[in-house]
Amino acid sequence: MDIIQNVKTNVSTNNGMIRPNAFRVVAGPCTVESYDQFAASAKAVKQAGYEYVRGGAFKPRTSPYSFQGLGREGLEILSEVSGELGLKAVTEVLDAQDIDAVMEHAPILQIGARNMANFALLKAVGSAISGSPEHGVVLKRGFAATVEEWLLAAEYITSAGGDNVVLCERGIRTFETSTRFTLDLSAVIVAKRLTDLPVIVDPSHAAGRRDLVVPLIKASVAAEADGLIVESHHEPREALCDAEQALPAEALMGLRDVLRPFASAMGREVV
Ligand code: PEP
Ligand code: MN
Repeated sequence: MDIIQNVKTNVSTNNGMIRPNAFRVVAGPCTVESYDQFAASAKAVKQAGYEYVRGGAFKPRTSPYSFQGLGREGLEILSEVSGELGLKAVTEVLDAQDIDAVMEHAPILQIGARNMANFALLKAVGSAISGSPEHGVVLKRGFAATVEEWLLAAEYITSAGGDNVVLCERGIRTFETSTRFTLDLSAVIVAKRLTDLPVIVDPSHAAGRRDLVVPLIKASVAAEADGLIVESHHEPREALCDAEQALPAEALMGLRDVLRPFASAMGREVV
């Protein structure tokens, strides 16, 4: 691990997404499908008391024949709805040529698991957000990446000048087939020991099934995660992408009460 050299302390907390003694919840649909769908799903996030909403406009789908997201139209919907509700948006950037457009519509740029080792994109995002303290990056761990490779990917962003990098463990490929991926909670703990970057967890893509999402969130709190990014949808069964793993609005409403004792045992407030 001695080749990790450049991850700086406290680079990632000054835009308020991650705060000491807080457990940040980011929720929302996998994909922005339409104004009405995103507005209804985002409203549930607001009503549940959260400040950050997720929603993909550019989607990295395994099959080229699957819905690829609404692209720039999706970004417009994302910023319109998040602006109306006073929420901050997290959305994926797939391609360096879209960085400026994504930054215009969302403060937090997600770099997905499939792009964790796209070094040109990491450098471009790092330099685009440098000097813009309101912007930040959520860097997903590649599903076949070691912790070291993940941290070095973060260094591509920080060494290009990007602050506010948040690491996100989202499950890795193993031989196990009962879940979509295997949530690697040891990686959360290891990453937090090796860097001062915050680490959040995505239980949705790890599990691939909604019945496991809340138990995995509880375990993530205990593993000292700084927050989570979870998929939720106002009509989960109708979702165009990742329907099996989205939490319904009722579960999102109840999440704070379910998490409170776990968070308070870890000295954190759910925000
Ligand atoms: C997502 O968050 O919708 C997503 C595609 O995540 P990942 O890159 O972790 O698969
Ligand atoms: Mn998804």
